[in-house]
Order: sequence, then C-alpha cells, then structure tokens
Amino acid sequence: MRGSKRLNTLVPGGDDGWGLYLRATSMHASGQPVVMLTIGDHDIHTDPAIVAAMAESAAAGHLGYAPVPGTEALRQAIATRVTAQTATRATPAEITVTPGGQAGLFAALMAATDPGEGCVLLDPCYATYPQTVRAAGARPVVVPAPAEGGFQPDVPAIAAALDPGTRAILINTPNNPTGAVYTRPTLEALARLCIERDLWLISDEVYDTQVWQGAHLSPRALPGMAERTLVVNSLSKSHAMTGSRVGWVVAPEVVTRELWHLSTATTYGLPGFIQDGAAFALTEGLAAEQAIVTRYRRRREAALVALGTGPGFRVVPPQGGMYIMLDVRQSGLTGEEFATRLLEEHLIAVMPGESFGSAAAGHLRIALTQPEEVLVPALRTIASLAGRLAAQRAVA
Ligand code: PMP
Repeated sequence: MRGSKRLNTLVPGGDDGWGLYLRATSMHASGQPVVMLTIGDHDIHTDPAIVAAMAESAAAGHLGYAPVPGTEALRQAIATRVTAQTATRATPAEITVTPGGQAGLFAALMAATDPGEGCVLLDPCYATYPQTVRAAGARPVVVPAPAEGGFQPDVPAIAAALDPGTRAILINTPNNPTGAVYTRPTLEALARLCIERDLWLISDEVYDTQVWQGAHLSPRALPGMAERTLVVNSLSKSHAMTGSRVGWVVAPEVVTRELWHLSTATTYGLPGFIQDGAAFALTEGLAAEQAIVTRYRRRREAALVALGTGPGFRVVPPQGGMYIMLDVRQSGLTGEEFATRLLEEHLIAVMPGESFGSAAAGHLRIALTQPEEVLVPALRTIASLAGRLAAQRAVA
C-alpha cells in the first residue's frame, strides 16, 4: 500500500533540508565531539521556576484532558502579551494555543487557504515552511528575498508573483535563517498589498524578543491588518521552552472559533500542566526571558568579533534572532559542500544555506546555541577555513 499523494508529495525528492543536521546528530550520539551550531535549540535550560510551576500543576493532578483551545488563564496571558507588544487589543477569544509555533503555522495555513490555493513564501525561509504549506493542502508560491537586498521582502516582486489563486503571504520577522528584521516601510507596503489583493498575512514572530538592531513591528498593529493577520508565536525561543511545545495563533474571533474545531480534530489541546507552566512563564517569567535575550545579545557580539570581516567570506550581521549567516561563495563551494567539510574535517556542524532555499545558496547558517567558550573557537575555525579556501581558489 502507498501512502496518500498528499503525504508523499510533502517533501519532493525526500530532501527536507535537515540531512546534514541528522548526520551531525548521529555522529554526536556515537560519541564524536561535534560542536552543534545547527538547529535553534538552546543550550540554556527552561528556568527552574517555570519547571517548578509545571511540576506543581502536575502534582496537583492537572493530568487529564485540558481545554482544547487552551486554558482561559493561558489565553488571557497570551492576549495580554500580544496587546502589550502590538499596541492593538487582543482578547482570549482571538487566541488558539497550539503545540508549538510549528503547529500554529499549520493551523494558520489551514485557516487561510483552501486546497490548491497559493501561499507566498520568501526564499530563503525556515526549512519547514514549504512542507507545512503543502501539508495544509496549499501551494507554495516562492519569491526570492536575496542577500543583495538585505534579505528584505521585495514587495513589487511579491505583487508580480501573485496569481488569482493566491490567498496568503507567510512572513517571518525577525527572520530565520537570515537575521533580517523587516522594516516599517516594507511591512506597510506588504500590508497595503494584502488589503488591495484581499490576502491573509501570516506573521511568524517566534523571534520577536530577540531584536538587536531596529525594532520589531507586528503587522497586526498596522491599520486594517488585525482582521487579516494571523500571528504565530511560541515560548520556544523567548523562554527556552522548545520541548514544552507551547505556541499560539492570534486570529480574528470568527476564525479562532474554527481553529478550535481544527484543534479538536488534530491535537486535542496541550497537557494542562504544561499550559499552567506556560501561563506562569508569561505572567511571572520576565526575568528569565530577559536573561535569555541578554545571553544571545552577548553571544552575537562575541561571534561578530570572532568571525571578523574576512578574508574569504562576508558576514551578514543579524538584526535579530539566534543565527548568523555567513556568505562563503568566495570559497567556490556550495554551502552544503562547505558545511560537509566543516563537519568531516573540524567536527563543527552548521546548516547549509541551501536548506532554507536557493536564495541562500553559498551561505552557512550558524546557530548561536553554544556558550562563548565553545562558540568563539568554532567561529575562528570556520573563518580560517573560509579564508584558506578562498585563497586557494584565487591561486588556482
Ligand atoms: N518559526 C520559525 C521561524 C522557527 O525558526 C521555528 C523553530 N526553529 C518555528 C517557527 C517553530 O518553533 P516551535 O514549534 O518550537 O515554536
């Protein structure tokens, strides 16, 4: 028996971009001292006070089915946070709690598109996006946002790519993998386009606390946008809670009611004790959240110093998020080839830019997910390999 076409076309060719990461993980598991700078999983643990809140809730017996849309307390805490961050009122009736931002992305796509309809994706983008769009039955409409334009969305190019069946644009700011924070004029232009062409804007804001240059602007706050923006967020990055799987979608109330039906049909909600821990994190976890931000800010600065400015590569200083993009095209290798050499010869694992789309070809995405004493020497090794390869190529 074959699986459905829907499933066997999720990842055309079977390469979902995680190959090198999986290889590095199995080398690491077999005892090789690989420095993992691949996925955005923290070396930092969830704050003990948050873990204690979960444990207390579990001990108190919150182990049965919990409310499918999310507990009232958690949705209220999320609504309060969204209101504060966007200066636009959100209520618990507009919130759906999902198991992580990833399930939130799927839910948002299910809300915005019917089977076969298009959703604009910017290339490069987070590696799960194309398959998430397909999983929801929609069709990726890929528009490049190349390095040369600072990885900002090219709104006229998006407008030109729209076909009559396109229903949504999916954006992510601060951006993974590029570190771009979208500017106000760009977001205003995107908002105008969505209004003119009657499109949903799905706004993935999971890195909204990690802004190093500029300011995060949620497009939900722009005039006329709250009714057509689906905001996806989670506690994974902001509170180092990747494994707790707490995310949410902010959507207009009518759509939210339908998303709750989707949750009934798919996840049936999150464990109650996790939701209680999440509500605690949002209401009393500000110090823990700030500590994470401070840690990444320091790492970013140390990383930029350790890398320097070449020769042999170009750093793309991240305006936000927990990654640095390195343009290694001067080496003559693809990002994939460079990352493979780095893994095989130096036991350093980074993500090839190609994992995020062809517009990031010849780049590496380095996650700042190690303490500085590990991160800095690894970055120096990467910089010197890039320098050596570019010099060899110049001679050849
Ligand atoms: N969006 C982006 C841009 C991400 O980088 C990630 C995780 N790396 C997610 C969504 C999903 O995160 P989670 O499901 O852990 O909330």
